[in-house]
Amino acid sequence: MARYRDAVCRLCRREGAKLFLKGDRCYKPACPIEKRGTQPPGQHGNSLRRGKALVGYGQQLREKQKVKRIYFILEGQFRNYFERAARMKGITGENLLFLLERRLDNAVYRAGFSTSRRQARQLVNHGHILVNDRKVDIPSYQVKPGDTITVKESSRKNAHIEGAWQTASGRGRPSWISANGDMTARVISLPVRDDIDRLINEQLIVELYSK
Ligand code: SF4
Repeated sequence: MARYRDAVCRLCRREGAKLFLKGDRCYKPACPIEKRGTQPPGQHGNSLRRGKALVGYGQQLREKQKVKRIYFILEGQFRNYFERAARMKGITGENLLFLLERRLDNAVYRAGFSTSRRQARQLVNHGHILVNDRKVDIPSYQVKPGDTITVKESSRKNAHIEGAWQTASGRGRPSWISANGDMTARVISLPVRDDIDRLINEQLIVELYSK
């Protein structure tokens, strides 16, 4: 799978928003967006975009890129999610976000086992995560109500996982995931739109793909 290897904070500055890609740092004043605002990266960043409000295709494209980056998804896979969302009952844009939210790597992050989705992806890939007491190492696995998500016994002393878990309540959990002190999270319902970043305008992505 292709990987982005440049500084991830550049992605937030490119999108002009906090995408929470870097773990703990995102919640501290050291976050470059907190320190420097949303100036685009690069020597000419300020002159490239500011003052010119994006409209139409440009705006739609940026919104799609932003969501892809938040969930750490490549173009082909993102397109597949969209097509699946369009076939589902309900509002396509919301369906798309719900499918992304239900990915196991996202659920691991949202439950508090990691401080970023990127770290959550690694935990899943490396076999640290159990769903209903069975190892699942597929980040795109869709969790469903009733599933329990835990860390395998031998990984519970992992400093990253322990640290993330201890500070998880400070970062907040969505209403569809509950957690107990035993390092176990439970999916109690399907995600709802209020649990997902309100700054995402999913309708722009629908418009982009509907051209
Ligand atoms: Fe984005 Fe986090 Fe970097 Fe801040 S610290 S710019 S939120 S990745």
